[in-house]
Amino acid sequence: MNMINKPRVVVLGAGFGGLELSTLLSETFGDRVAVTLIDKGDAFVFGYSKLDVMFGRSTLDAVRMPYRNFMKPGVRLVRQTVTAIDPVGRRITTDGDVYDADFLVVALGAEYDMEATPGLAEANEFYSVAGAERLRDVLPTFSRGKALIGVCGAPYKCPPAPSECALMLHDYLVNRDVREDCEISFVLPLGSPVPPSPETSRALVAAFEERHIEFIPNRRVVSVNAARKVATLDNGAEMPFDLFLGVPKHRVPNVVGESDMAEDGWIPVNPRTLETKFPNVYAVGDGANTGTPKAGVFAEGSARAVASDLIAKLRNSGKATPFDGVGSCYIEFGGGRVGKVEVDFFSGPKPTGTYHEPSVAMRADKEHFGSSRRARWFGM
Ligand SMILES: Cc1cc2nc3c(=O)[nH]c(=O)nc-3n(C[C@H](O)[C@H](O)[C@H](O)COP(=O)(O)OP(=O)(O)OC[C@H]3O[C@@H](n4cnc5c(N)ncnc54)[C@H](O)[C@@H]3O)c2cc1C
Repeated sequence: MNMINKPRVVVLGAGFGGLELSTLLSETFGDRVAVTLIDKGDAFVFGYSKLDVMFGRSTLDAVRMPYRNFMKPGVRLVRQTVTAIDPVGRRITTDGDVYDADFLVVALGAEYDMEATPGLAEANEFYSVAGAERLRDVLPTFSRGKALIGVCGAPYKCPPAPSECALMLHDYLVNRDVREDCEISFVLPLGSPVPPSPETSRALVAAFEERHIEFIPNRRVVSVNAARKVATLDNGAEMPFDLFLGVPKHRVPNVVGESDMAEDGWIPVNPRTLETKFPNVYAVGDGANTGTPKAGVFAEGSARAVASDLIAKLRNSGKATPFDGVGSCYIEFGGGRVGKVEVDFFSGPKPTGTYHEPSVAMRADKEHFGSSRRARWFGM
């Protein structure tokens, strides 16, 4: 490694993938490698914390991890918006600077395409921090009528999250003593709540039935009329609602779409190495088409594989450990109980999942999942 001209690694996006990759490079090389981590935001928030904020279980202040606390030798985290990516020249333009990279890693996640579902912008969604915060104030006003949890397209982040929302809404209404005056329906574009794990799906569907939650699989919401309080599904059916809780259609951020990196909506990569078709340019996490779900654990796993590849390349020795496509996800089942599904996407001819029954004890595991990353990345 040339110590005078340090290798320059530029990581776009300080989410699950970017934070883990930068941490691993710092742990391995300290300041012998110059890592620039670029994000437009000022804090990281776990996806599942949005559900906690929306149902008033936590506050935004409590779940925000400010980037100023991410301090790692060799890593410079800059708060700028990426405005152009040239994957051929490995040149990044932001609203404040231009960066040239020896190795470029795109970890910009997925954005929400509000225009893809007419009327959704005037209704409520719970997948953004702002949307979850708005709903925290709207939910207490809902005491009677029809609630509709509507997913507007797949793939979407964290396949079990809308199911969790349905079960948490049930508990929330029970606790307010208004559940008997409310109906809950849940529209999902997938055939089952967690397709790789039929056992997990069966348990979730049984939980919906026990709680009188109407589950409508294989359908998606194509438009919402907030004035008429009606959502239209892809088969033309209209569903009236008093409260709409939406999951917007997802897409890569515009800057990725404009960069020639995306094909069919996502960035094609070698699923094991996360290499794109551009030399020394990688993509990890929700924006990359790896065949795994859009979830933090898989973003983190793919970042580990890139770190391993970069470490081998920068040391000019050793063999990289490829992405194994394995991840586990905690699922809020209501009543304080948390279940878990472990999914393996690459080992067999088709994905397989192992289901762990919900329990109160599993909540401690979920809390450890969050607190260990908070400590590792932010020292908090
Ligand atoms: C309700 C909900 C519940 C979830 N629950 C779970 C769960 O239980 N377990 C789990 O593993 N996953 C869960 N997820 C999914 C998880 O949050 C994402 O899959 C994960 O964050 C993806 O990581 P990433 O690194 O690809 O992208 P992200 O974490 O989204 O990070 C991308 C970063 O890029 C930045 N960025 C984007 N565009 C630009 C730009 N132009 N310039 C600069 N910066 C930019 C963003 O600010 C962001 O910080 C959940 C998600 C939601 C919405």
